[in-house]
Amino acid sequence: SESGRCASQDPYDSDSYLSAVKPIWCPGCGDYSVLSSLTNALAYLQLPPEQVALVSGIGCSSRIPAYTNVYGFHGVHGRALPVATGLKLARPDLTVLVAGGDGDGFSIGGNHFLHACRRNVDLTYIIMDNQVYGMTKGQASPTTAPDWKGSELTPEGTGVNSFQPLVIALAAGANFIARCFSGEPANLAEILVQAIQHPGFSVVQVLSPCVTFRPEQRQWKNLVRMAPEGLGTDIQAATQRLMDDDGLTIGQVLYKGNRPPYRSRKGCEKKMSELEMEFAL
Ligand code: SF4
Ligand code: MG
Repeated sequence: SESGRCASQDPYDSDSYLSAVKPIWCPGCGDYSVLSSLTNALAYLQLPPEQVALVSGIGCSSRIPAYTNVYGFHGVHGRALPVATGLKLARPDLTVLVAGGDGDGFSIGGNHFLHACRRNVDLTYIIMDNQVYGMTKGQASPTTAPDWKGSELTPEGTGVNSFQPLVIALAAGANFIARCFSGEPANLAEILVQAIQHPGFSVVQVLSPCVTFRPEQRQWKNLVRMAPEGLGTDIQAATQRLMDDDGLTIGQVLYKGNRPPYRSRKGCEKKMSELEMEFAL
């Protein structure tokens, strides 16, 4: 074909999901690997790019929609989840992905995070967590440890306990919870496949080093450990496991429930043509 793809049974490879825009992340940033795991997951699922939308907020990781050729929406800070929720309810036929960082998602976007977990709309939320505001040059974020002294704004550390996104997701009702590491891209792609396939809100926290403002995170590759297999459906065990964890256990779905996803009531879904008519009026 003109696009260079042959009409085989496997029409999409991971490059099929990349745009012509080259990422401007710092060399060594974990987000490169998240992008390639995501395109591998989409290729595995053979999702047509025009059937996928990727919504983000603001931050280094939130640039990701521009680097793909699926539909993208680079929104405002912290507001990716409400945009994605509206999109999914209006267009339930689309696979809607949401991506962003820890600052965007858990600080200004924290309230939306709680309610997305509670509502259980069928979205996949990928949080590239580097425990810092990278785009604004290295301030403490909600997931930063209290004793991190790397920012001039908090030379003695914040002294504030860090936000525990997965415990909070579980308490708020999320039904698919996983933690991965950008340095384990095959495992990340596998978990993303499961997250996308899961009907309902899926939370995938990805430890993704900011090599510029948290260079010590290069050591994550020596510190992370794979969770034992077979985790998953017991909510009390998952709660205990997450409470006891140091944040470095990766690689498995830590909890998976079967609460039905939220859907628009029948008759509320509008065709795009009707919506366009209303916006035009
Ligand atoms: Fe990645 Fe940090 Fe550079 Fe942002 S500042 S692109 S998070 S390494
Ligand atoms: Mg961050």
